[in-house]
Amino acid sequence: MADRKPFVGGNWKMNTNLAAASELARSVADGVAERLGATEVAIFPPFPYLLSVGSIIKSRAPGLLLGAQDCWHRPDGAFTGEVSTSMLLDAGVQAVLIGHSERRHVMGDSEETIRLKLQAVLDAELRAVLCIGETLEQREAGETDRVNEGQLRSALAEVSPEQFERVTVAYEPVWAIGTGKTATPEDAQGAHAHVRGVLTELFGDALAGACRIQYGGSVKPANAGELFACPDIDGGLIGGASLKAADFQSIVEAAG
Ligand code: PEP
Repeated sequence: MADRKPFVGGNWKMNTNLAAASELARSVADGVAERLGATEVAIFPPFPYLLSVGSIIKSRAPGLLLGAQDCWHRPDGAFTGEVSTSMLLDAGVQAVLIGHSERRHVMGDSEETIRLKLQAVLDAELRAVLCIGETLEQREAGETDRVNEGQLRSALAEVSPEQFERVTVAYEPVWAIGTGKTATPEDAQGAHAHVRGVLTELFGDALAGACRIQYGGSVKPANAGELFACPDIDGGLIGGASLKAADFQSIVEAAG
């Protein structure tokens, strides 16, 4: 995996309650604490549990990153239901998911919204995990690389090289998220190599070579090893399996 430190994220989506989130945070923190030297790990709980989860991981695994699943791009004002980057910073958040496929395809975040959100996150000195990926229809039409490239170029249009150092890309084919279907390691590696090629055009060899590109889409303990062994796959963004501490720990171990 070149000399990039692998990075594994756990996206809890709209799951857990306060008791379950606290228990999961304790188990994940205890399970991965010893692994944080070899692998960077972040968990992305729902907004209402950020403070409690943050305080648990701070005391049990201080290197474990606290992430948020989204944000709004304006600093404050009449945006009912939204959360700003400064609110996330107040809650101790270090990284934010932007452009997750559920945001793009269920809530309808446009390319322009995603660009603005990514910029807001980076302007706030936070780290971003920028999610991209094609639908099944686009894949069957042979458009995977074109779609990924378009999403990258659009989202990263205003990002400076200094800011890009705080960006991780998560390639998540939409048809593989939460479906139990996973891209083959060969297909995933092909898409990741193309992503890195686009990043090289945009930011040069050194920054593109240092950028972690996670794979996401039904990653489980049973398939994590073969995916993470691919040269351009630098860890994963994990949904369903991140809700089971033992599975998430196995996936983190497979990355390191
Ligand atoms: C995700 O939510 O980013 C994801 C990849 O989900 P799952 O692992 O459940 O497919």
